[in-house]
Amino acid sequence: MKKVVTDFSIQNIYVPKHKVNSSGVDISSVFNEKSEVFENTKTESSDVILQDNLRNKKLSKLIDGDYSVLNEIEWRTVQGTQEFVEIAKSFQFQKGISIYDSMVGDYMNGKLSKDKFYEYLTKLLDMSEFKPDNNVSDEEWEVYGLYALFRKDLHSGQSTDKDIKNFNYNEFFEKITVPYSEKLIKNEAERILNAKKAKELSNYDVTNSQIAPLLPRITNIQINKSEKVQYFNDKKYQISYDKDKIIVKDSNSEHVIKLKKLLSNIKNEEDKAAIQKILLDLSAPVLIDIGVEIDTIKVFNDANSSTYAQYDGKDNVVSINLAKKDEKNMPFVLAHEIGHSLDFSRQDDRNKVNSGFDKELISIAEQEMIKLKDRPEYEKQYASSNPVEMFAECYALLNMGSSADSNYVIATYFPNTLKYIKEQIENQRQLPMKDRNYIGRESTLLEMVQEYIPQWGN
Ligand SMILES: [Zn+2]
Repeated sequence: MKKVVTDFSIQNIYVPKHKVNSSGVDISSVFNEKSEVFENTKTESSDVILQDNLRNKKLSKLIDGDYSVLNEIEWRTVQGTQEFVEIAKSFQFQKGISIYDSMVGDYMNGKLSKDKFYEYLTKLLDMSEFKPDNNVSDEEWEVYGLYALFRKDLHSGQSTDKDIKNFNYNEFFEKITVPYSEKLIKNEAERILNAKKAKELSNYDVTNSQIAPLLPRITNIQINKSEKVQYFNDKKYQISYDKDKIIVKDSNSEHVIKLKKLLSNIKNEEDKAAIQKILLDLSAPVLIDIGVEIDTIKVFNDANSSTYAQYDGKDNVVSINLAKKDEKNMPFVLAHEIGHSLDFSRQDDRNKVNSGFDKELISIAEQEMIKLKDRPEYEKQYASSNPVEMFAECYALLNMGSSADSNYVIATYFPNTLKYIKEQIENQRQLPMKDRNYIGRESTLLEMVQEYIPQWGN
């Protein structure tokens, strides 16, 4: 499958994709919180004992016929799913019948009112529900079909007491709930392990790698409160700044970044200060590129988003998610977006991304991609997702000494791609100014369909 890239952003690939269970409930948001709790269960901490105690309390209440404890299980989470299945199994083991049969018995014997019975029954069915995968046996689908039908009748008030008595809950629990919950728990454990290994790799030291000779040596010397000298390899820059502008001088030119205009879309003074702080950590070549490429920087605050920042080629605007500013090294993230911006330039009457259509880049990278193909997921850092992200990550690496999220993968697998992109960055910088920050017409639908950004490695 080729994937169409719709925006150019830097994202955390280990934030789980949205998963919807068959009741249509989005359970992705809770996957995150639960990963912590989930990891704790591996250690013999007092938390685990506490959790076990709570679980046993719920179990004994259930055995005593207090089904309201089902409301205390957060079944939409992986953790809650695990808790529910364990309690349900223990219940069956201790009482000799399932929660379902026990509930039905209590209802038939008049121990449970109809309203309460329906409420608890619905909850139990929700908690037990998993939809089989598309390519599994007919038997699983048959069992699921019976469940779905029963569920539908129950919901519309059409089930008789006989239907309720006859529904084979135990079969559904054994053939669907147990195996699919185990799968969910296993996948979650794998995701956590991958995220952990990915995090370890994000600390990879690129200075001792084979690409070290291609990377910049950057030295800053602070002259006074508002001025510093920066050596970028052997080139000397003088960077001075106040609240209205940043001036970058080299031996033969002067570049002024007007902060008033660049930050004009940011209303909050605190946010403005946060962006200025990030700007001052950029290298001189990136600052010079910003002056040419970027119209304005916007900010947003979304702690739940997996996006750290993004570049919009339609209006040359970079947006930064300030809610994430302590999670990532933001100067590298911003440099990544400036890389996208440099990559976009005028072609005919459009502002078009160059790397996505660069056959030579794609061919070099595909050659280097072969070795990465069979490696574990966590090694496939962001740059390897497509040529456009590769360009942006290489840009940050070559101009800041680090990418946002791909140092390991580029240093280990893509030295030739990096070398090629280094030349391309210089080519893009040679383009006429008016082509570099050109804002063209939007793509037509036909163009969008035909000109997807290729994803390699398939
Ligand atoms: Zn990007």
